[in-house]
Amino acid sequence: MSSKPRDIFFVIGGSGFVGRHIVQQLLDRGDTVSVFDIVQRYDDVPFYSGDISEEEQVAAALRKSGATCIIHTASPPAGLNDPALYWKVNVDGTKAVIAAAQATGVRKLVFTSSAGVVFNGTDNIDVDERLPFPEVPMDAYNESKAKAEEAVLAANGQRGLLTVAIRPAGIFGPGDRQVMAGLYQVYERGQTNFQIGDNTNLFDWTYVGNVAHAHLLAADKLVPPPDNVDTTTITPEELAIIS
Ligand code: NAD
Repeated sequence: MSSKPRDIFFVIGGSGFVGRHIVQQLLDRGDTVSVFDIVQRYDDVPFYSGDISEEEQVAAALRKSGATCIIHTASPPAGLNDPALYWKVNVDGTKAVIAAAQATGVRKLVFTSSAGVVFNGTDNIDVDERLPFPEVPMDAYNESKAKAEEAVLAANGQRGLLTVAIRPAGIFGPGDRQVMAGLYQVYERGQTNFQIGDNTNLFDWTYVGNVAHAHLLAADKLVPPPDNVDTTTITPEELAIIS
């Protein structure tokens, strides 16, 4: 049996597609969880209505919830022609989440990034997290996700906060409002007769339940190294093994 204390979870963006699966999986395994979002879709889970770009709203909700672990999955949807909104929510909002977490003594932050942060239109085959961000980002959404991820990872170990970022590619499954809706619109408009390319292109898709599970695993693994380990010389691979 684990001797680790159980976290109190706070899911930002918990009313969304991925967020709802994360919340359900936490509830299913008996964890305490509350949700922070601009949209209310719950009647059975403590809910805080607020905008992540307002640091005080996040901090006030964190204090009330007693959260020890934030899972931050909020973002405007991809594909909008609104760079200012992406910057406000994803960059400034994520920085506000980090500041609120540190101000209220939250110990862990799991951030939903995106595989798009390293995509700029050319194939990425067999790459891993060492691949640098492209010099020219794909678009404002992916640029803002990259900046947010950078801020989250830079905050790791600062003021008692441990952080991790997860980069899903395409996500499918129950509750999706973007991918299947888009495919269906193409079908409805009779646009399926057109083919771009030679039909050999590959793209990564992950079932939403597995994406949600990855967030829970990341949260559970995010623990400080033992006191007798010198973390100034430790590699990320070694840190993963000892924790
Ligand atoms: P979604 O739109 O279903 O959910 C996002 C949630 O964030 C919504 O409930 C929305 O109300 C909330 N939100 C937006 N702005 C907010 C703000 N200012 N303050 C508080 N809450 C706010 O999106 P999703 O598909 O569940 O995506 C979740 C995360 O996964 C996002 O960060 C997205 O960038 C990332 N992602 C999604 C996909 C995908 O295919 N859906 C792929 C890669 C990465």
